[in-house]
Order: sequence, then C-alpha cells, then structure tokens
Amino acid sequence: MTTPQPRDCVSRIPAYVAGRPPKPRAGLTTYKLSSNENPYPPLPGVVEAAVRAAEQMNRYPDMGNTALYGALAGKLGVETERLALATGSVGLIYQLVQAFCEPGDEVVYAWRSFEAYPIAVTAAGARNVQVPVLADGRHDLDAMIAAITDRTKVVMVCTPNNPTGPSVTQTELDAFLARVPEHVLVVVDEAYVEFVRMTDAVDGVATVLTRDNVVSTRTFSKAYGLAGFRVGYAVAPPAVATALRAVSLPFGISNVAQAAAVASLAAEAELLERVSALVAERDRVVKGLADVGLAVPEPQGNFVWFAAGDRTTDLAAAADQLGIVVRPFAGDGARISIGETEANDRIVELARSFDR
Ligand SMILES: *Cc1c(COP(=O)(O)O)cnc(C)c1O
Repeated sequence: MTTPQPRDCVSRIPAYVAGRPPKPRAGLTTYKLSSNENPYPPLPGVVEAAVRAAEQMNRYPDMGNTALYGALAGKLGVETERLALATGSVGLIYQLVQAFCEPGDEVVYAWRSFEAYPIAVTAAGARNVQVPVLADGRHDLDAMIAAITDRTKVVMVCTPNNPTGPSVTQTELDAFLARVPEHVLVVVDEAYVEFVRMTDAVDGVATVLTRDNVVSTRTFSKAYGLAGFRVGYAVAPPAVATALRAVSLPFGISNVAQAAAVASLAAEAELLERVSALVAERDRVVKGLADVGLAVPEPQGNFVWFAAGDRTTDLAAAADQLGIVVRPFAGDGARISIGETEANDRIVELARSFDR
C-alpha cells in the first residue's frame, strides 16, 4: 500500500441521494416535492435578521450560540444544559453516534427510515441493525426490542417516520422505553413534530425530562423553513447534551443561521398558521387519494408515501410528466412532499392517472 488509505468503513458509507430539483418544462410550472421542504418563503423578520448578521461575516460566529440557546430554552421551558445545537439534525445524528459508539457497536433503527442513519452509523465504524417497518409503514417496536444486543448503544425512533409517514404514540413509546436497557440511548427523531395531529401524540421534551437515556432531536429545516441554513437541536439529559457539544464542530452554525433561527422562533404565530395550512393540505391530499382508491400510510409529517414497489421508477417518471418531482426509493416506494396547492392537486392526479 503506497497511498494514504481511509478507514475501511469509509468505502462502505452509502451515498446520500438528495431530492432532485425539477427540470423546467415549457408551459408548465414545475414543483419540487422531493425533499420535504417548506414551500413558504422565510417567516416575517427572518430575512432582515439574516441580512444584518451577514454584515458581520468577517467575524467568527458566537461559538456558544448564546442567543439561540436562550431563545430555545425559553420556548421549550428547559434548562440550557439540556440543549445541544448542531448543523441540522443530521449533524446531531452524526454526533450521537460518534459520542456513544465504539467501532463495531450496534445502532438499531427501523427500515426504511431516514437515509442519513446508515450514513452516520457506517461513518463512525458502527454497525447498522435495520428492523423492517410493518406493512402499514409503522415501526415494529417489538422487533426492535428483540434486535437489541449487548453491543447495542443507540436505538433510533423516527416519529413520524421518514419516508413512510406514521408516528408512534406516547403509549407505544413509553411501553418501548420500559423495555430498553437503561444504558442504551434512545433517540427520538422528531424532525416533523410540528406537523403531528393525533391523539396520544409523543411529547418528546416531556419524555426526555423523565428519563436519563432518551434524546429528542428537532430541526429548523422543515416547519421553520430554514433547510438551507442547517440548524437542529437536541433536548437531552444534561450528560448527553454535554457529550454532544463536546464532539460538535466548533463554529459549525454560522452567525447568519443563528440569527435566522432566533428570528424564526420569534415568529411563532405565523409559523403555526403555515403549519396548520400545510396540515390542511395534507388532509386534503389524503382524502383525494382515498377518493381515487389509493390508501397511504397515515401521514403525520409534511409528506405522503406511495408504496409503489417495482413500479416506483415508473411512478417517478409519471410524476415528472405532471411537473412534480418526487423522491423515489427504487423497488420500494416514493415519498412526496406536501407543497403548493397546485402541486398537491397533481399528487392526487398522479394517483388517479398512474396505472398501478
Ligand atoms: C429532514 C430530516 C431531518 C433533519 O434534517 P436537517 O439536518 O435538520 O436538515 C432529521 N430527521 C429526519 C427524519 C428528517 O426527515
């Protein structure tokens, strides 16, 4: 061997397939429904705050993220020592695995689920233990318990599950947590928490406050519409938050992103209005799909799942023809984000016209 060699695990890291932008089409407005992004422009005051912060780009950002920690602690009603900020919740997932797994340790999670999990786990030299979701897209929590071994360090619960859509209930989560060994860290990935509308919904923050081995991760990328700025946060037991901050990239969150996140938290009323409108659109799409004979797993995020199986690639091509870009997972299904009203109409049109 004559050249520098990366660790073995590096060649096994799966590629992250980002949602594709639409190709422009003559005479047709096209929509990107492939990345679960928020279709709304920034919340009031956010662009102004970001522009003000950009004037300081010659300075390093506040490494302690003081203003953002303060604003989040106030909103959530938790001590700052329980919070850890990161460059998106993808950053948190990397940091969790890095902080808690030695090479060869196991991370248990549902599959199909968020595609960043196998990337982060493999990059850390840890092992992926994927537990198939049930036919209705829900986590198989019993099978996940059965998959825990003495090498398991972390269990991920993605609720609502990206890309299939359903959430676990608080009752299910509590029963699950009661069966997980105390030394195993349970990460409740609540990237879409603002969109959840169900009885017995998970309260991640309250759950964290009663346990020493549970972390909730959240993000400004989805409901808050700051996907381009990369800010996520964890609510965790203080010792876990300390570990997450210890392995974080110094100065990772830019001052522009910090300012935008603080300003977004201050626009809570407008945020809730927009989220409600997207939830109403989600409900309208689900009803439209049912009317044309397509039942989808109960969506609790800002996306729906078409379990198209072998026809997934054809489905994605048919969506392209209608001017919407979906996120296909070949052989399995396609995830379609709830977007602009016209785009959502086309989701129903896709289901109606596609020969399943
Ligand atoms: C989008 C998403 C995230 C968050 O990503 P960011 O890095 O915060 O943009 C985390 N978990 C799940 C399940 C997601 O779908």
